[in-house]
Amino acid sequence: MQTSFVSSSSFLRNAFLALFVFAPSFAFAHTGHGSTNGFQHGITHPLLGFDHICAMVAVGLWAAQRNGNAIWLIPLTFVSVMGSVLGVSAIDFPFLEQGIIASVLILGVFITAAVRLPLIASTVIVGLFALFHGHAHGAEMPNTVSGLTYAIGFITGTSFLHLAGIGLWISIQRLNNATLLRYAGGAITACGVALCFA
Ligand SMILES: [Zn+2]
Repeated sequence: MQTSFVSSSSFLRNAFLALFVFAPSFAFAHTGHGSTNGFQHGITHPLLGFDHICAMVAVGLWAAQRNGNAIWLIPLTFVSVMGSVLGVSAIDFPFLEQGIIASVLILGVFITAAVRLPLIASTVIVGLFALFHGHAHGAEMPNTVSGLTYAIGFITGTSFLHLAGIGLWISIQRLNNATLLRYAGGAITACGVALCFA
């Protein structure tokens, strides 16, 4: 137990160190937003964007790992906050791309180290991440019907990715192998590091 705690905290320390070392290259990670018109563009963007896929699947995985009401509350918080921010384009939000990559890295570390926070803290953290994911696109979305359908598509795609994360956790549970979940977290963290160089 002691050993596992020590290795978890040293992993956390290294991961956060990497976050700061790679921070300068974060700005180049989000490769274009594409068209922000219509349902089809909305649903495909998160499903095709590597950074969104990693973070949104991670939200589902972390929520399922925490268990209980968190399974639906954490993803619901992400989708609600992100959806609300999609509609607000007037607020200038700094460090957008850095925030998106930080969300991948931090969630990856949380899953790997099986970090279990109070439910309210978990929802606040996930809600904060959702601000970055939503605003990256809300800022570019037109204030028209096609902008609205884009938002609905984006929310649908995001929900699908959360469900994929929960589904992945259920599959891992069936295999009865807790280590596998940590590997999944490690893979997400590695994707976050890779995104720093993208
Ligand atoms: Zn995007």
